[in-house]
Amino acid sequence: MPLDLSLTGRSVLLTGIAPDTIATVHALLRDGAHVTVAAPDDPADLPTSVRDLAERGLVALRAEPEHTAYDVVIRSATPTPPPGRSGAGEVVLVGGGPSDAGLLTVAGLDAIRRADVVVHDRLAPLAALVHARAGTEIIDVGKIPRGEFTPQERINAILLEHARRGRVVVRLKGGDGFVFGRGGEEAQACRAAGIPVTVVPGITSSIAGPALAGIPVTHRDLVQGFSVVSGHVPPGDPRSTVDWGALARSGTTLVVLMGVATLPAITAELVAQGLAGDTPAAVVADAGMSSMRTVRAPLDSIAETASREGITAPAVAVVGAVAALDVLA
Ligand code: SAH
Repeated sequence: MPLDLSLTGRSVLLTGIAPDTIATVHALLRDGAHVTVAAPDDPADLPTSVRDLAERGLVALRAEPEHTAYDVVIRSATPTPPPGRSGAGEVVLVGGGPSDAGLLTVAGLDAIRRADVVVHDRLAPLAALVHARAGTEIIDVGKIPRGEFTPQERINAILLEHARRGRVVVRLKGGDGFVFGRGGEEAQACRAAGIPVTVVPGITSSIAGPALAGIPVTHRDLVQGFSVVSGHVPPGDPRSTVDWGALARSGTTLVVLMGVATLPAITAELVAQGLAGDTPAAVVADAGMSSMRTVRAPLDSIAETASREGITAPAVAVVGAVAALDVLA
C-alpha cells in the first residue's frame, strides 16, 4: 500500500494481517508515526517481523484496540494471490542494504516490482515491499538473534518450490546477501536444481553502518584497509576459524558483525593479542533506522560501554583509528 501522506508524530492503528502489513508498518515507522498493530485472534497469524518490532518496543501490540483512540486506522485485507505462471520460474537474490535506509539499489527495487513471491528476512528493507504488485505473496523467514528461525534447507526448498511453479521469486535480505547472508548457498541450491538464478548485490551494513555514523572504514593517512569478520562464535570457541592475533596485527580497521553478545570476549582477545587497549572503537546499532545509536569508547572498555548503554543487535562494531572520527559532525 503506497503511503504518500505524512503521518509523522501521528498515532496509527493497523488492523487485519495481510501480506503488505510488514511493508506498511515499516513505511509508517520510517515516516515517524506511532504504530499500534491490532493483535490477531490467533497469535500464530502475527508475522515474526512484527512480533520482533513489538519486542523491541518499536510498535505496540493491542488486543481489541479502541479505534477512536487513534489519529488514523488502516485496515488490511488479503488480496487474491496471482496465478502460477507456466514456464520456468527464476530466483533473484536481492541484497536490500541495511534496514529501510533507502539503500536498496534500483535493480533490487526493479526485482521487487516484478516479483510474484518475496521471501524475506527480518533485517531486509521491508518498507520497499510497498512496491510489490498487489497479490505478491510475501513470505517471512526472518530470524531473530538466538531465537526462532527457519532452517536454511527449508528456505532453499521454499525458493525452489515457487520457482518450479513458474514464478519470479525474490529472496530479499538486509545488506549484501553474499556477506554472512548465505546467498552463496541459495545460489548453489538453485543451480543444482536447474533453476535460473541471478544476484543483485546490496550495500552491506559492514560499510554502510559505520558510514551512517560518520566513520569511514578507510581514511587516507590513517588506515589502508579493513577486515570484516563474524563475531557469531567467540575467540577460543572450537567452531571459530578466525585468527584474532593476525587481525590484531593487521593494521586494518576491524569490522565485526553479529558480535554484540561476544564483544567482551572479542575485545579481550584483541588486547591479549597485542592491540593497544586505547585503540578507538565504536558500535553502531540499528544503522539506518530511526532508532540508530552509536557508542564510542577505547577498545578495552567498548564492550562494557555498549552493554551499559543497552546496545542490542543488530549492531556493527568498528575497531581502529577511524572509530574516533565522525566526519559528518
Ligand atoms: N548480509 C548482511 C549481514 C548479515 S549478518 C550485510 O551485508 O549487512 C547480520 C549482522 O549484520 C547483524 O548481526 C549486524 O552485525 C549487521 N547488521 C545488519 N543490519 C544492520 C543494521 N541496520 N545496523 C547495524 N548492524 C546491522
